[in-house]
Amino acid sequence: MMKDVTTTLAHGRDHLAIPGPSVMPERVLRAMHRPAPNIYQGELVDTTTSIKADLNKIASNSHDVGIFIGNGHAAWEASLVNTFSRGDKALFLINGRFGLAWAEAAKSLGIDAELLDCGHKRAVDVEKLEATLKADSAHSIKAVLTVHTDTASSSSNDLAGIRQAMNNAKHPALYMVDSIASFACEPFNMDELGVDVMVTASQKGLMTPPGLALLFVGERFWEFQKKADLVTPYWNAHARIFPKMFPDNFNGTPPTHHLFALREALDMLLEEGIENTWRRHEVFAHAVWAAIDAWGGDFKCNIEDKSMRSKAVTMITTAPDVGRDLQQFCNERYGVVLGVALAPEPGRTILSDAFRIGHMGHLNPSMLLGTLGTIEAAMQALDIKRGSGAVEAAAAVIGSS
Ligand SMILES: *Cc1c(COP(=O)(O)O)cnc(C)c1O
Repeated sequence: MMKDVTTTLAHGRDHLAIPGPSVMPERVLRAMHRPAPNIYQGELVDTTTSIKADLNKIASNSHDVGIFIGNGHAAWEASLVNTFSRGDKALFLINGRFGLAWAEAAKSLGIDAELLDCGHKRAVDVEKLEATLKADSAHSIKAVLTVHTDTASSSSNDLAGIRQAMNNAKHPALYMVDSIASFACEPFNMDELGVDVMVTASQKGLMTPPGLALLFVGERFWEFQKKADLVTPYWNAHARIFPKMFPDNFNGTPPTHHLFALREALDMLLEEGIENTWRRHEVFAHAVWAAIDAWGGDFKCNIEDKSMRSKAVTMITTAPDVGRDLQQFCNERYGVVLGVALAPEPGRTILSDAFRIGHMGHLNPSMLLGTLGTIEAAMQALDIKRGSGAVEAAAAVIGSS
């Protein structure tokens, strides 16, 4: 058959297979399709209260959560300005572009960000962390900050191991976690982990449009918040968490339709049961990894050790230019948007020898196998050498789970 390179087959519904924003369920979309509500009393006020309660339930946090209008970068800033004063020392655990970007945000605010760099190919090294904390006998490090999943390298960090290292070193630093890519995708229990601050955002595992930044805090956060001299009126977590009037929750007009969307998304997660949601992500992650193993050759998971891999996103390294070509071809010809691969260094460089598959949020076997099958078709179209049986291998994982 002739290869038709001029027309696209991308009709029907486009599919986003990127690590955020994730696919929005019809139910979430429909929840927003309504007139502007009363912002003084009634449903919106009750909805906000119930959203906060259910967010805490999913995070297993027995303390507080604040909602800011913003994306993940906004959540980073909310976490930093409410915790630190200019010149405070913070230890950032780095194993990918996102942890590094959080640290860069801290530096630009005047925080003394020290990096424990563990490369781009593995989880954070908890032994190195323990040694670093033990060496800090003066306790000058005020907080340890880590991503749970680094979305660029697609690594997943051992949050319990990090807590254990802090305990072993008997170090009083605050424990701060970015769960933006992993929240509602991978197990997280804020109380049990002894996490003091956790940030996430609406557009990944929470299946809601980008626009809500969430700051979860534990009891110890407030000692730091009281002293933090970086805090500004808009970002002040105290006012949002202890509002005197309903608009204080948002420092102004509430994000009305985002709240209706998030309410619906939380209903969906609670109906499924969060443990089932985690399990579903685990199955899909293993299916993606099985496909990559079948392709073989130059196709490899960026994170070799399975126990260090994210369940929400996978970075796949390829021969030179292949990752970029597949990403572009799937997008232009087939209506499937794969994730581009971000270089580990600062800046916004995109790698040509890698791509990413987002497998987070509102996803079922047909969507995931459709993505893998579409990649397979693009490999055929582009004459890319690979092993056979990738889609079958992924299907077998799903079928036997
Ligand atoms: C997506 C993401 C961010 C940034 O979120 P934006 O909404 O793009 O600002 C930060 N951290 C992690 C781990 C992410 O996955």
